[in-house]
Amino acid sequence: MSRDSCVYFIGAGPGDPELMTIKANRLLNEADVVVYDRLVSKEIMDLVPTGVSRIYVGKRPGSYHLTQEEINELLVKLGRSDRTVVRLKGGDPFIFGRGGEEVLELQKHGLKFEIVPGITSAAACTAYAGIPLTHRGLATGARMVTGHCRANMPLDLNWDSLADPDTTLVVYMGLGQLPQIAKKLIAAGLAPDTPAAAIENGTSMRQRRCISTLVDLDDRVKELEFCTPTLIVIGRVVSLASKLDWFQPTLVDDLSLEEGDDSPLMHADA
Ligand code: SAH
Repeated sequence: MSRDSCVYFIGAGPGDPELMTIKANRLLNEADVVVYDRLVSKEIMDLVPTGVSRIYVGKRPGSYHLTQEEINELLVKLGRSDRTVVRLKGGDPFIFGRGGEEVLELQKHGLKFEIVPGITSAAACTAYAGIPLTHRGLATGARMVTGHCRANMPLDLNWDSLADPDTTLVVYMGLGQLPQIAKKLIAAGLAPDTPAAAIENGTSMRQRRCISTLVDLDDRVKELEFCTPTLIVIGRVVSLASKLDWFQPTLVDDLSLEEGDDSPLMHADA
């Protein structure tokens, strides 16, 4: 085990543990402590060797969770200790993962860090749902935006620029704001029958996908009771999903992750 004090910001990918990089896997095996959040799948946490401390800092509905400031403080404290620290995040740490903020905090305190990119859900969940992000004749590019906004506040996005039929639009954290997203894009000129998809628990054995149109997607995901994490994809490339439907998740009982299965806050399984 390495004794160099360093905080490794590692992207774990969106769920399938085999989508982690070789580097991520090696560092998990060298870690003394792993700080992880909600999006890191149980299957990935199962790869953390026994005896390594695990600290859960994710949100739990209805119960106490650490604020971002408290997570930053924790990382600084761990970064000062003589331990190899892994900050494990779902997908990629620098894509809607607040990795940049945490790294800046360590840097402010003169602490050592490294970044290990992960496969972000825009790339992995779409691939597992049979949707190429770009495709000749269908999409010349792709954009990733956040659908997160404060309660009762409108989403602050440039709808005119997003309503581009030649670009695939990927919305992270967009499930709750889907009615608003569809309405604004249609008002900005995107055709209501633009193909649109929602992918829930992408790349995992619990993956579900819903293929629809911009105007109907919200009703369909409500019927199917989609929950987070769900990725929204809007654009003509979604029309390929039925042809390229290759991934057939087979749910195995002991792989299902129910609410409350997460390790408790500050749990060390040493
Ligand atoms: N850093 C992450 C994103 C964190 S934001 C990444 O690079 O992927 C959280 C949002 O990511 C979720 O609300 C959802 O929109 C998306 N997401 C992450 N993992 C997902 C998964 N397995 N399936 C579907 N969407 C996922």
